[in-house]
Amino acid sequence: MNVPDVQNLLERLNNLLRMEVRSFGLKYGLQPVQIEALTYLTRCNRYSDTPQAVTEYLGLTKGTVSQSLKVLEQKEFLRKQQDTEDKRITHLAVTAKGKKLIEHSLPAKSLETALGKIRAGQGSKLEEFLRSLLREMQHIHNRKTFAACHTCRFNEHHGKGYVCGLTKEALSGHEIQLICREHEYPS
Ligand code: SF4
Repeated sequence: MNVPDVQNLLERLNNLLRMEVRSFGLKYGLQPVQIEALTYLTRCNRYSDTPQAVTEYLGLTKGTVSQSLKVLEQKEFLRKQQDTEDKRITHLAVTAKGKKLIEHSLPAKSLETALGKIRAGQGSKLEEFLRSLLREMQHIHNRKTFAACHTCRFNEHHGKGYVCGLTKEALSGHEIQLICREHEYPS
């Protein structure tokens, strides 16, 4: 494998995807980072919908993320909600308008079309390869994995349902598909 070539390919793909996100966002007066923050918030679980988690996920400064969240709130794509038990915690809830926007933005139309031309077997191998690559890169950079709950080492299946071994709280079938800032892969 030629590593500079792989890097070049990944950067070019990233540029194309960002161009598409940029042009989609412009229609709504949103920057790519704002679309990314909103996308994250539609996919994360209840332990991960805070400004701090968005900052960690995007790997940006607190100031940039805070500005982006303010714009999303002003445009009514999300609203702040105080935690019912711990008043110090603020959750970011995506509104119906925000959910609709993300439904329209994903997946990128060009990616959907391009992948449709690749044979099914190749597509799933590509997904597996990219997932492994991301996992290794996150490990090298010592970054949180932010992966789906059902792949977490703390996810416990007890006959009738699921429980988070970390918080000891029950998890629904929907919640185990969401991403979590406390996620850790089994060793
Ligand atoms: S099982 Fe893991 S991923 Fe799921 S909620 Fe608990 S810590 Fe998060």
